[in-house]
Amino acid sequence: MPAPMPRAIPTPLDRPYPGTLHLGVDATDITRAIFRVHETIPAQGGPVALLFPKWLPGNHGPTGPIDKFAGLVIRAGGTKLAWTRDAVDVYAFHVIVPNGSHALDCDFQFLSPVETREGRVVMTPEMLNLQWNAVALYPAGYFSRDIVVQPSVKLPQGWKFGTALETASASGATTTFKPVPFNTLVDSPIFAGRYFERVNLDPGARVPVYMDIVADRPDELTISPTQLQAHRNLVQQAYRAFGSHHYDHYDFLLGLSRVMTGIGLEHHRSSEDGTTAEYFKDWDKTIVSRDLLSHEYSHSWNGKFRRPADLWTANFNVPMRDSLLWVYEGQTQYWGTVLAARSGLWTKQQALDAISADGATFANRAGLQWRPLEDTTNDPITTMRRPIPWRSWQRSEDYYGQGELIWLDADTLIRQKTGGKKSLDDFARAFFDVDDGSYVTVTYTFDDIVRALNGVLPYDWAGFLRARLDSAGAPAPLDGLARGGYKLVYTDKPSDYAKSSEHVRKVTDVLYSLGVIVDDQEHGQIAEVLWDGPAFNAGIVVGSQIVAVNGVAYDPEELKDAISGAKATGASIQLMLKRGDRYNTVSVTYRGGLRYPHLERIPGTPALLDDVLNAKH
Ligand SMILES: [Zn+2]
Repeated sequence: MPAPMPRAIPTPLDRPYPGTLHLGVDATDITRAIFRVHETIPAQGGPVALLFPKWLPGNHGPTGPIDKFAGLVIRAGGTKLAWTRDAVDVYAFHVIVPNGSHALDCDFQFLSPVETREGRVVMTPEMLNLQWNAVALYPAGYFSRDIVVQPSVKLPQGWKFGTALETASASGATTTFKPVPFNTLVDSPIFAGRYFERVNLDPGARVPVYMDIVADRPDELTISPTQLQAHRNLVQQAYRAFGSHHYDHYDFLLGLSRVMTGIGLEHHRSSEDGTTAEYFKDWDKTIVSRDLLSHEYSHSWNGKFRRPADLWTANFNVPMRDSLLWVYEGQTQYWGTVLAARSGLWTKQQALDAISADGATFANRAGLQWRPLEDTTNDPITTMRRPIPWRSWQRSEDYYGQGELIWLDADTLIRQKTGGKKSLDDFARAFFDVDDGSYVTVTYTFDDIVRALNGVLPYDWAGFLRARLDSAGAPAPLDGLARGGYKLVYTDKPSDYAKSSEHVRKVTDVLYSLGVIVDDQEHGQIAEVLWDGPAFNAGIVVGSQIVAVNGVAYDPEELKDAISGAKATGASIQLMLKRGDRYNTVSVTYRGGLRYPHLERIPGTPALLDDVLNAKH
């Protein structure tokens, strides 16, 4: 018979936690990338369960880095206490507080990754990204908003930082912040660096918006007048789309690095935007990165302020349910594209090229045959962004890109049926333009979405959405493109967006011709194989290395020439592959030539997509 389970961890209740937690983080050990923590937690005599945050907002999954939590020592009044980890919930620690004690003193470390295979590198000799969830314990039995904490951080000498937290006092290299609820703390990370620049994105505004930039090298902080103007436009275009704002100040935390791992993580009053070191310096080559800020910023409205009801949890150790991520992420992906174009972060052509790349992904995704879109909202829990062998068959976090196509479908439908009088912007005003200035989350359900859409245009929105979310075997949702006046076509020339995507990802992307993406950083290792494509049918799998193409050492241009050559001559393509310790040569039969996606105007139709992308005045 099964052994009985231990007593459950106390359920979070909505009642104030007595006293204020004090959380001090020493972030000066940049050599070993170790964050050292001292935390004081008020507590009375008796059993206490302390939690390490497990379910992280924005990650939509149980990704709290418990594997890098170490060195835990708990004391009360100087006496060391024994602690035990819960046998079922390994993110919970039990300790008995002695009678007469009033606080627990906890010391521990967050051993942040020193190489990428251990996880996200968040500390380098030049910068750091402090996420409070990785350096804090908190008491079980309370809503996280009911626990008040006063954080402080000691940074390397001379470093500067950006954060949504407000400073209470500073002494030497240590900054103490004003007390905040525990959920606000977790929502308010820090970017700090040796090379730092703070840029005002809304000069003279009552509610300020800043961009806090850290970079590997000082010259990578330089921002041109055109770049600055586009980022400033982003703020104004967001206000025109969403109406009110849900912060009392906002900071884009922008990390430009080849060492610190990239990130895009939304918060109410800030966002963590970690991208290519060349973001400003090589603007023309980093097109693919330029919807990062517009995406994360849109989340302040969609995802943080308005949040799916099943995703809003009382604390960070209650499981999240992700069923509405096609709104939370899918519509944010849409606004990210739209606002990038409206602000000038992208030209109209670059935005069209980005949308063509999204359309092509789903036009070529075999997994649509078996897996409904809504089911992919489970991916942050089932897969947690680990590498997968057959992305186009398994599907991935498709609620982003396919979600974007659904919202384009809805937007163009509204525009068409109202003769251009209404659009998804009206939905945005109805849905997000409430409680101006507040960053207290307002939750919603599927029915609330349908109701808001019906307020803009009476239509069978429930049927529209369910058909697109629940069906397996339906074709890719490209109706919004056609209604927008465009069709998806392929030519043998990559768009500037596609070229930038290859450049930034350091890959050779011939997915829609030969059926593979090749990782050029890994010397020709195959990173993706299109299900049922030419390479798939020749037995090629992810992880194999292309050693030679038609007898010549692998090189991206050699591979592309071979694909074009096969079209001209009708010959097959000979690939010598290394897989483990085996070498073999496979013959791939493919004569279609290079194929890259583009959008082409459908003559004689209204260009509704152009209307979507035009700046609002
Ligand atoms: Zn997002």
